[in-house]
Amino acid sequence: MSGIVIVGTGQAGFQLGASLRQGGYREPITLIGDETHLPYGRPALSKAYLMGKTNAAALQLRPSAFYADQSLTLRVGERVAEIAPTLQRVILTSGEKLSYDHLVLATGSRNRPLPVPGAALPGVFQLRTLADADALKAALHDVKAVAIVGAGFIGLEFAAVCAGKGIAVTVIEGANRILARSVSPLMATAVEATHRAAGVHFAFGAVVSAILERNGRAVGVAATDGSNYAADLVLVGIGVLPNQELARDAGLPVSNGIEVDETLLTVDPAISAIGDCAHHPSPHSHEGRVRIESVQSAVDGARCVAARINGQPGSHVAVPWFWSDQGAYKLQIAGLAAPHDLAVLRGSPDDGAFSVFCFREGSLVGVESLNKPGDHMIARRLLEDRQANLTPEQAADTTFDLKASVAGHRRQN
Ligand code: FAD
Repeated sequence: MSGIVIVGTGQAGFQLGASLRQGGYREPITLIGDETHLPYGRPALSKAYLMGKTNAAALQLRPSAFYADQSLTLRVGERVAEIAPTLQRVILTSGEKLSYDHLVLATGSRNRPLPVPGAALPGVFQLRTLADADALKAALHDVKAVAIVGAGFIGLEFAAVCAGKGIAVTVIEGANRILARSVSPLMATAVEATHRAAGVHFAFGAVVSAILERNGRAVGVAATDGSNYAADLVLVGIGVLPNQELARDAGLPVSNGIEVDETLLTVDPAISAIGDCAHHPSPHSHEGRVRIESVQSAVDGARCVAARINGQPGSHVAVPWFWSDQGAYKLQIAGLAAPHDLAVLRGSPDDGAFSVFCFREGSLVGVESLNKPGDHMIARRLLEDRQANLTPEQAADTTFDLKASVAGHRRQN
């Protein structure tokens, strides 16, 4: 038996190896990753790690002994260059060939490049890897002002870190609000207010046209409306692209990610894809298919594939959820709320802790919670019970007992 080859040693690849062994898989498992570190979690990179509140060892998903104990062959610092699907082999950049019984692509995503002059100058950063975070952390030492291109999660988390260090922050965003792709306008307004209160400035509707340069270094950004934003450091956070080229070059269908079915299998019965790189069917998406960039999706997808390989096939249908820590605020999102036609507040933004319940055609499709972990946990259960029939009036009524309504619905079914 050649066993399982996993390409990518990120959250999804690691979890698959661990879950395969946990489920009793006894054949060889080889994980190949082009980063040089042991598998680690990325979330803290833009939060506690940059703040100096945790170290690289604490980011490791498991200590090195785990891989030997579990007979997981971990090959870090190596890259898969090609798949030969008919031979069931991968070819590394070194030329080495490895056979597989089943191949799992857990290749993740990479930062979307900013297509403007000066984007490669010293002083312009992106944040995806531990190496990126180390470079950014070192550069932040003597910085007085930063410009952040993009008001998405990474940009805002970085804004909160910088504001906390007393650095002047301007976030430049082409849309007219923060988190335009990710949260409701109600939640975006409240989160923006927390950043403004911490001293962060925003320039909305501003499309970056160039990185300003002096003496071969970035000194700010220029926008198409003629505005300039001076900065000692520029962070670009404008989203990611799925790492799907390996699959595409092997003849597998790709679109916004590697196309897989509800069990995360590609059209080749010997190749699956999981995590950030997989575009999969989802009962929670209004389009029917989705590619999700979150720890939860990477972990649940990996468990789903491990169970299938261990003889218990099932679908990847878990309710999507996500969190983002921005300064003292914890934003948690359950479900896929976009698009929705009605959003109701539960609690008040003035209290610094509230939720937004989003409905589409009368059904609850997503819940966004700020500093309300209890609402978030119940929301996940409500969204699991897709027939729970919570009404917008009930959601908005803080005296209505959401927990009891979940329990009641479960008793009836
Ligand atoms: P990745 O973690 O990207 O791992 C894929 C790995 O495969 C990479 O190491 C890549 O280099 C490697 N690889 C790619 N191609 C090859 C090849 N050909 N050969 C060998 N190796 C290859 N999610 C949350 O839910 N909450 C958060 O708060 C949160 N914060 C985040 C903060 C940051 C700074 C970042 C970058 C992400 C954050 N995320 C968060 C997202 C979450 O970390 C990702 O969704 C998750 O890491 C996806 O896991 P993955 O294994 O699919 O991909």
